[in-house]
Amino acid sequence: MNKKGQLIVVSGPSGVGKGTVLKEYLASRDQIAYSVSATTRSPRPGEEHGVHYFFLSREEFEQTVQSGGMLEYASYNNNYYGTPKKPVEEQRAKGNDVVLEIEVQGALQVKKACPDALLIFIAPPSFEELASRLTGRQTEDSKTVENRLNIARKELLCAKEYDYIIVNDTVELAVQRLAQVISANRYSIKNMKEFLDEVNKHA
Ligand code: 5GP
Repeated sequence: MNKKGQLIVVSGPSGVGKGTVLKEYLASRDQIAYSVSATTRSPRPGEEHGVHYFFLSREEFEQTVQSGGMLEYASYNNNYYGTPKKPVEEQRAKGNDVVLEIEVQGALQVKKACPDALLIFIAPPSFEELASRLTGRQTEDSKTVENRLNIARKELLCAKEYDYIIVNDTVELAVQRLAQVISANRYSIKNMKEFLDEVNKHA
């Protein structure tokens, strides 16, 4: 088994409840870090710099990309979002797993750049259920809900690019499934490079 921690990418459409599932999963675990992303969008009430996101200007963001400081980045809803590379590498080198909660364009970049990454897609039980969850929130107007549903349609089509799909019918079951997938992945061939190199040395 590799000494390096796992790189775990979690995506899913808006309204699917991925934040709740992840929060619950992370609450009872150590040796796993949540990657704080950078974004050019403005903070929402209650959001803190360095905790929820690193809030950067477009210039700062673009400079970080140009200097190779982002593991991945994407434009979403007219703003940039990206994963700062250094903290991810530092945590993994210490043997800690790192979770990235990112949208699909970024996830597919990570898949290319880090073939050992584990990609998990959190899906709603059905499209109708997602629509009803988003409508039920009543925090957004119907135009915003419609936009999010259109994005969700496109995102669901990308689920086939992921390693696992976890259906969030209940949070408890989804957390259980997530835990199973992450612990089995620790022993998957793509995380056994060090073992395989050692075997090859003696071949
Ligand atoms: P929100 O603005 O609602 O916080 O996030 C909008 C979308 O951006 C969500 O799907 C979220 O998962 C995604 N996102 C957050 N951080 C990153 C990131 O670092 N990279 C990418 N590609 N997407 C991100």
